[in-house]
Amino acid sequence: MKTRFAPSPSGYLHLGNARTALFNALFASAAEGGIFLLRIEDTDAERSVAAYRDAILEDLHWLGVHWQQGFGAEDEGSEVSYTQAGRGTLYAEHLSHLERDGHAYPCFCSPETLAHQRAAQRAAGKPPRYAGTCRDLDVGEVESRLARGEVPALRFRVEQAARPGFDDLVRGPQAFRGADIGDFIIRRADGGPAFFFCNAVDDALMGVSHVLRGEDHLSNTPRQLLLLQALNFPAPSYGHLPLLLGEGGKPLSKRLGDVSLRALREQGYLPQAILNYLARLGHAFTDNALLSFDELAAAFQIDRVASAPAHYDPAQLAHWQKLALTEVAEDILWAWMGKGTHARVPEGLEMQFVEAIRGNIRFPHEALDWADRLFATSMERNDEAMEIIRGSGTDYFQTAAALLSEELEFKAFLGRIKEATGCRGKALFQPLRAGLTGCLVGPELGPLLALLGTQRAVRRIEECMTLINEGKR
Ligand code: GLU
Repeated sequence: MKTRFAPSPSGYLHLGNARTALFNALFASAAEGGIFLLRIEDTDAERSVAAYRDAILEDLHWLGVHWQQGFGAEDEGSEVSYTQAGRGTLYAEHLSHLERDGHAYPCFCSPETLAHQRAAQRAAGKPPRYAGTCRDLDVGEVESRLARGEVPALRFRVEQAARPGFDDLVRGPQAFRGADIGDFIIRRADGGPAFFFCNAVDDALMGVSHVLRGEDHLSNTPRQLLLLQALNFPAPSYGHLPLLLGEGGKPLSKRLGDVSLRALREQGYLPQAILNYLARLGHAFTDNALLSFDELAAAFQIDRVASAPAHYDPAQLAHWQKLALTEVAEDILWAWMGKGTHARVPEGLEMQFVEAIRGNIRFPHEALDWADRLFATSMERNDEAMEIIRGSGTDYFQTAAALLSEELEFKAFLGRIKEATGCRGKALFQPLRAGLTGCLVGPELGPLLALLGTQRAVRRIEECMTLINEGKR
């Protein structure tokens, strides 16, 4: 079993493409000895950008989707090129086989003629099909037109009676009629091979057995089946994934840059969150926990892929982000928090810091806020916090400051304040939180206090007394 992902490097990877890559990778991984291959489809030289190609590879690895064969994999360096730009000779060879065997013929119709024909067909309420003008030119005419310098395209001959069909892995049986397809161009007059021709030839020559791809390619499939048959190549099993729709029911696209993997990564989404979110977009898993790639692969079943469109839902993604933040290893979260946080958290407290705040943040900038709040020499207290502090009185803080130096366990510490001041409930812990952190919401106070350390905590509590006294003046 060999699956593949074949991106065109004309933009960043968006969620829809990433899901296609992931499903192919999971599908291969779920099978004993399955291989997932990556091919770069850069036949469109104008729109293909090397920087996008590199970004796609990087983003896939970041997501945790790795391939065993193809571009950038270890077997690279063998004679096989995994970019279409490097396979031109090969395509030319197979195109000429088709022509030699009578499956394709030179077509001299100009783009203007073809546009006219199509317009006329549409006006008559018929679907546009090639009219067959050059289908049966005799050899003499072809030769004289070539001699005159006319440059033909190469057109594939589709028999009216042809019935290309297949059992779609996702959508079930699909049937097409040759008459509806019409003869189609496989090599443009400029010599460039048609994209779907290269795509089909590559799959065959690279031994791809299963193809999961976007529904937008479904109309290519019957033509590709006819081509593969004419070339005597085996056809892979195809499965067409429903499109991923964005807000308003429109398909997600590269133009909507905000759902590129890169943009989500920059916003601070964890790859584990995106991986789990994508895996559930159109595939049912019984386990709703955060799963690793291998766990997802073990549970992946092609017959569980839905044929109904999937919708991008930021709230679901947020759910997985929250789950990832509670599940992912501390050192991974520490790295994710970034340089700013690294520079602020004192050495030795890194993992304690991660543990203390992981349940209360969603993005790295919030970690930075907490690092600032806890470790900066001067801390801003918000209005709510000031109000609580002023309302509480110096006695409370005096007691707290004195008890802090005893370095009690947090519960015992609170108990002693309660004993000494008679405060309970909110009145017991809110002034402490306001005084120590400058705000009223946040992670559990005990671990925060431990992070602050006695010295810093005492200083902050003393600040509160000054603030109260200043307020009186
Ligand atoms: N290069 C095509 C795309 O990016 C993929 C076609 C296919 O998967 O067969 O849409």
